Amino acid sequence: MKLDGRNRPLRLGEGRISGYLSVGLGTLSVLAVLCFMFPDFLTTPSLRAGYDLSVLRTLLAAGMVFSAAFGLLTFALNRQKRLGALGLLLTCLAMYLGGSSVQVGPRYDAPGFIGLDWFILDLLASAITFIALEKIVPHRRDQPILRPDFWHDSRYFIFNHLAIGIFLFVSVRAVPSLFSWSVNADLQGWFRSLPGLVQFAVILVTADLMEYATHRAMHEVPALWRFHAVHHSVERMDWMAGSRLHFLEPLVTRTAVMLPAFVLGASDTPLLCYIVWAGFQAGLVHSNFGLEFGPLKYLVATPLFHHWHHGSDKEAIDINYAAHLPVIDRIFGTYHMPPDRWPEHYGVVGDPLPKGIWRQFLYPFQRKAPAPPPV
Ligand SMILES: [Zn+2]
Ligand SMILES: [Zn+2]
Repeated sequence: MKLDGRNRPLRLGEGRISGYLSVGLGTLSVLAVLCFMFPDFLTTPSLRAGYDLSVLRTLLAAGMVFSAAFGLLTFALNRQKRLGALGLLLTCLAMYLGGSSVQVGPRYDAPGFIGLDWFILDLLASAITFIALEKIVPHRRDQPILRPDFWHDSRYFIFNHLAIGIFLFVSVRAVPSLFSWSVNADLQGWFRSLPGLVQFAVILVTADLMEYATHRAMHEVPALWRFHAVHHSVERMDWMAGSRLHFLEPLVTRTAVMLPAFVLGASDTPLLCYIVWAGFQAGLVHSNFGLEFGPLKYLVATPLFHHWHHGSDKEAIDINYAAHLPVIDRIFGTYHMPPDRWPEHYGVVGDPLPKGIWRQFLYPFQRKAPAPPPV
């Protein structure tokens, strides 16, 4: 693997780990304070309703303390002073804006919102969970955390989280109004009377059948493949790689996946459990986590299963479309998971995609270059 200065493995004692942690936590602290100041513009209404303010203030205080401590440590190590200074500056800015005792700002009737709170919380939870898993049992030991394209994929992570308002608008407003004709009160009443675990299982199976159908269509219909190719252009798998999705892809797939739950009128708790599980599994299956999960790998989608989907080796093309249950691929004849091997290479076969998030957004809309004339 070719690594430049920014992608070198992080080593203890050289100040980069503490420097990045200081800047990262300092940035998140400033953003969190802004969420307190402008809740209607910067937080997600459905999440906001469940927040415990004292827990969030404690989390913010801890973020600022660690940001300052890591900044000072970076200075003490006498390396990466710019990172240390930036981390301390960000912590001071968060304190200046009110820190963990900042007042909750006035309420506005905002026409829309940016999901900054969702970005902060999911980044913290995902980074802590998946970096730990990838360090404890890595699949590729020589792959650093800041592997090539890590910062490129983190831009997708930021964009897809901040745009949650658009995704929610489509799934919570547009879908119900478009599919209101499919609602049957008797069916919904019966489904809601089922135990939560049964509802969860039905949501999981029906959502994955929809995922299978849309995902397979994206591989087999050339015009749709150009959108999905953005996701497959990932050449190094880790927890951040799954974020690389063309902006329009999650709009379509999330709508399709949530449709059965809407028609069935699923209760809130099983639906929420499904959303949390789906989010966790999406991070897990892309991660550089080498555990093969024994016989469990035949039951639920694991990194081994989805890494094969991303493989560019000949045997890995157009297989393993399911997001949760490999048995769906077995039923439709697209299952491929050798028990003891991982794919050698990842990425798209043929023309490489352009680099850069905006070029990749435009890529599906550009006409393909004409084939060279026959010689
Ligand atoms: Zn795919
Ligand atoms: Zn994927």
